[in-house]
Amino acid sequence: MDLCAERVAALNMYMNSGQSKINRLIVFRNERPKDLGGMPCGACREFLMQLNIENENMEIMVDYDLKKIITLKELLPN
Ligand SMILES: [Zn+2]
Repeated sequence: MDLCAERVAALNMYMNSGQSKINRLIVFRNERPKDLGGMPCGACREFLMQLNIENENMEIMVDYDLKKIITLKELLPN
């Protein structure tokens, strides 16, 4: 399994500060996602939720052009 940038950033935050709660995440890719099956990937969604249960309320900007924001708990079932 590859290690995505989201997990690397969260692990880096935790290892260097001890913090596990994330308020906001912005994900970028070359093209606009066609649905919510894009980033963060399923492994990252699960990891972020297990890192701190309060991360369920983290805001994830999934489409920069449209300024579309969704919470992790809304995204996780997908
Ligand atoms: Zn991922």
